[in-house]
Amino acid sequence: MISLPIIDAGPQRPVFANGPRSLASVKLLRLSITDRCNLRCVYCMPDDGVQWMAAQPDLLTPADFQAVSEVAASLGITHFKITGGEPTVRSDLVEIVKRIRAIPGVRDLSLTTNGILFDRYAVPLKEAGLDRVTFSIDSLKPDRFATITRGGKIEQFWAGMHAAEQAGYTRTKINVVMMAGMNDDEVADFARLTLDHDWTVRFIEYMPLGESGITASADPDAAIVDNQVLMARLGDAFGPLQAVDRATEVGVGPAHVYRVPGGVGRLGFISAMSQPFCETCNRLRLTAIGELRSCLFDGGEIDLRPALRPKPDKQQLAGLFEQCATFKPETHSHHGNRAMSQLGG
Ligand code: SAM
Ligand code: SF4
Repeated sequence: MISLPIIDAGPQRPVFANGPRSLASVKLLRLSITDRCNLRCVYCMPDDGVQWMAAQPDLLTPADFQAVSEVAASLGITHFKITGGEPTVRSDLVEIVKRIRAIPGVRDLSLTTNGILFDRYAVPLKEAGLDRVTFSIDSLKPDRFATITRGGKIEQFWAGMHAAEQAGYTRTKINVVMMAGMNDDEVADFARLTLDHDWTVRFIEYMPLGESGITASADPDAAIVDNQVLMARLGDAFGPLQAVDRATEVGVGPAHVYRVPGGVGRLGFISAMSQPFCETCNRLRLTAIGELRSCLFDGGEIDLRPALRPKPDKQQLAGLFEQCATFKPETHSHHGNRAMSQLGG
């Protein structure tokens, strides 16, 4: 083979050369299986009704999710997360899990849920091959939980958590979106949960995305609490937090991981606003209607449906995955055009 001199190697991109713009860096596919939800969290959904994006026949079917996941696995993606909206409101959730579990190369299959319906799904999902669960809860106080979720009942959340423990799930994570003046006074109470439970409680900086109760306010950015502030408060309450090697944390998430002195569980800090981690981003997202999205914030999406229907064209789908990875921004813009409920978090 003749090797030709390089005339122009393009802009210098030392990190991105093998970084997130290369599909080889993508390890996780987040599959949003619905944009519907049985809660209406103020940071995720608007005050005055939600414009649903997904209607039959646009919604991907279990077979569609399987086809996309097979292509993803063939490209080296090993971790799959089922999310939404609220994935437990889809009646074919168990079938979707079974189909993805059966794909060779799927090393980790997890679900993110608000827990409200999880008590009825814990065992069937375990039997279908779900590895682990992430629950979301933003207040431990029943009244405040109801306010933030616009009507949620906290006892249903705890019933879901309890069912997960009973069904034998381990390495459970709990997501908490901290918002200034709304729930950030509970940071120590959440951290205390890890003293005697082997859970990872993850503090997620609020992201002003799409239409929500908070983005409709005069100053949505005022809701953001820098995770450094939370860490300092936790240090005051418990003594210095102990850093944990993040490679020991299950999954391939962006959290920096710590332990409260003497705690059995862990704390995770996801600081997408104060310390964007775009250069190590390792994920792509699929919406419930088949758009493959390169970034939570900044668009860069491709409609996979023409390559999926009437019959999946796996070669074309693989090409679209390659292309989508190249759309990733070097650093996100801090504000996004679509709500988390559409993008799956
Ligand atoms: N309904 C499920 C749940 O709440 O866990 C799964 C979907 S939800 C969109 C996924 C995660 O995104 C949740 O942990 C939720 O708290 C988080 N989330 C939603 N909107 C957010 C926002 N604007 N900023 C930060 N996290 C957000
Ligand atoms: Fe529903 Fe999850 Fe959004 Fe809350 S964060 S409204 S539970 S999709």
